[in-house]
Amino acid sequence: MPLTRKIIIFILRRLAPCSFRKILGIAFVVMMVLPMALMTFITSQWYEQVMIKVVFERNMYWAEHLAANIDQVFANKIKTLEHLAASQDIKSMDKKRLTPLLEDLVTQYPEVQLAVVADTAGNQVSRSDGQPLDTSINYTSSQYYRSTLNTGTYAISDVLTTKSTGKLGVVIAEPIKTGDGILRGVLLININLDTLTAKLNQAKIGDAGYVYVVNQEGTILIHLDPSLVTTATDASHQTPVKASAKSEFGTMEYEYNNQKNVAGYSYVPTTKWRVIVQQPVIDTMFDITKTRTTGFVAMLLAGVVAVLLGIALADAMSKPLMKISAATNRLAQGDMRITLDIFALSEIGRLAANFNNMAAQIRKRDAELRESEQQYRSLVNNVSIGIYRRGNNSDEPLLQINPALAKILGYESADEIASTSLSKLRQQHEISVKQKEINGAIKSIEIALKKKDGTPIWCSITDTGQYDENGEVKWFDGVVEDITERKHAEKALRHSHEELEKRVEERTHELVLLNKELEKLSLSDGLTGIANRRYFDDILALEWQRANRQHLKLGLIMLDIDYFKIYNDTYGHLSGDECLKLVAAVLKPLTKRPYDLAARFGGEEFAIILPCTNEQGVFSVAERLRLNVENLAIKHEESLVSDFVTISVGGAAIIPSLDKEPQSLIAAADKALYRAKQQGRNQTVIADSD
Ligand code: GH3
Ligand code: MG
Ligand code: MG
Repeated sequence: MPLTRKIIIFILRRLAPCSFRKILGIAFVVMMVLPMALMTFITSQWYEQVMIKVVFERNMYWAEHLAANIDQVFANKIKTLEHLAASQDIKSMDKKRLTPLLEDLVTQYPEVQLAVVADTAGNQVSRSDGQPLDTSINYTSSQYYRSTLNTGTYAISDVLTTKSTGKLGVVIAEPIKTGDGILRGVLLININLDTLTAKLNQAKIGDAGYVYVVNQEGTILIHLDPSLVTTATDASHQTPVKASAKSEFGTMEYEYNNQKNVAGYSYVPTTKWRVIVQQPVIDTMFDITKTRTTGFVAMLLAGVVAVLLGIALADAMSKPLMKISAATNRLAQGDMRITLDIFALSEIGRLAANFNNMAAQIRKRDAELRESEQQYRSLVNNVSIGIYRRGNNSDEPLLQINPALAKILGYESADEIASTSLSKLRQQHEISVKQKEINGAIKSIEIALKKKDGTPIWCSITDTGQYDENGEVKWFDGVVEDITERKHAEKALRHSHEELEKRVEERTHELVLLNKELEKLSLSDGLTGIANRRYFDDILALEWQRANRQHLKLGLIMLDIDYFKIYNDTYGHLSGDECLKLVAAVLKPLTKRPYDLAARFGGEEFAIILPCTNEQGVFSVAERLRLNVENLAIKHEESLVSDFVTISVGGAAIIPSLDKEPQSLIAAADKALYRAKQQGRNQTVIADSD
């Protein structure tokens, strides 16, 4: 099995590069010639066996047939001779009575050349041909004559040249006896060899066959070749001759002259001869060779027919296939109009029809693809957004650019920036302001690009990677939008925002100042600018608690302008106000320590809080105040104590305790003020420490 497979694979490999035409041709030849060759071989083998059998039988037939024929020739003669010998005329041995009998005998049998009667001494007594008796002849020297005399029965000679005729022939000798068995002479007839040789010619055994007759010793007696007869050729060594000596009849096969021979042989009883029919096998094989030749010629013819048929069929099949192949090729090269004629209804026809269907489908798809591509192209070309395709590296030239991108960048056409890379288009020193990545695939950046004339342009770029099945980047598709205006608007907005923030800050500052002022206003006296009564009360309460905690003395001064009512009356209310301002201005610098506070207590009365100040301290401050006011020398002509404005001062200093109110300090100072008024005004009175 593996060998068969190997052979098939070998053949297929050899056939693979061959054309369809060649393969079909070879296949046809093989299909037609191989069975024919097999048939011829088998038939010739079988025919050879049959032929050998036939030849055997034929040889046997002819051997037996000829043997019977020859036997018949002699048996007849012997019978006739016996009958004749028994006649009185013969027995008389009288020449006159013998001669007519012998002449009749020769007439009856044309094959008999001569009939002779000889006496027991071997001399001729009578002869059939009317010739005078040949006295030179004496038969006693002849073996057949002596045998007849000795045995008293007939004898047959070998082939010999007869004494009386000088021709080749066979002599039959028949004894002539009296009634009591005494030998009187011998009746002799001479049978022409040609008659016997002619018998051999009957045999139909082919050109190379031989028929011959041998005697008991194996010497050739009758043969178509007369020389073999005249020389009495010895054939005893011949294989069929040897075989014939052993059995009366038979067939055999043997080698002779390096050739296979077949032979048949048969015994002739009357003469004890053997008929041999022999033939070289090759001679019998002529028919077989003829059959083989015919077969070969037929095979050759069949082969030629097969080749022609194969070529025709291959052409019929391969030509349409070639057409389909050529059409496929043209289709592959883009010839969409190609259509095949349906030239057959066979599978090839169906193939052609299928090709046409396929071509129609491809045409349809192609048209759809073109339409789709046109739509896509029109979209890409007409859209106002810039589009590009670039390779993996942003330093490589861009692969594709749409007109909008060229326009955005200030170029005439897309071709103008065909060789530019994305990196070259970037404005140096301008870095991306926004970067967004989605799954690492889409990058959205806002970046400054360079226009043709070098001016920067702000663009938003969305760079999307396109990946193959292995996850490798094939290319990047980018969408570019001119966002310069938006950027400017953003900048302007940012600027105005900053401006606004600045202004808000300024306003806030103003407001703070205003608030402070307001607070100051709410806590200060409107006319004099020093602390008002409310503020005074708050601070006094705080200082009261602090002095209480620290157990320190808290001093308080109360002062009042002397005869101020008169002043108003004298100089007018407005002058009174001016006077109040001047007095307040004297109070302010006097209270130098940070915690001291001068306030307008009400009307033309003022109060000064002096933390950590005892009676002496209070007095000292009070006196200085009084003197400073007097030194202002504000004219007060109607005053009863001075020509100038003066004040009366009352002071008190106590250590606050929780059971007392700040009012007690005010009351103490006020009481001291009252006393100063009572005692003549323009003076200071300090309340007693207890
Ligand atoms: P003395 O205190 O010396 O006993 O006399 P006097 O005239 O000052 O007495 P009084 O306290 O009764 O008078 C106070 C006067 O001060 C009354 C009022 O007309 C005047 N006065 C009070 N507040 C103001 C003010 O804010 N402006 C002006 N011009 N006068 C005021
Ligand atoms: Mg007063
Ligand atoms: Mg007063």
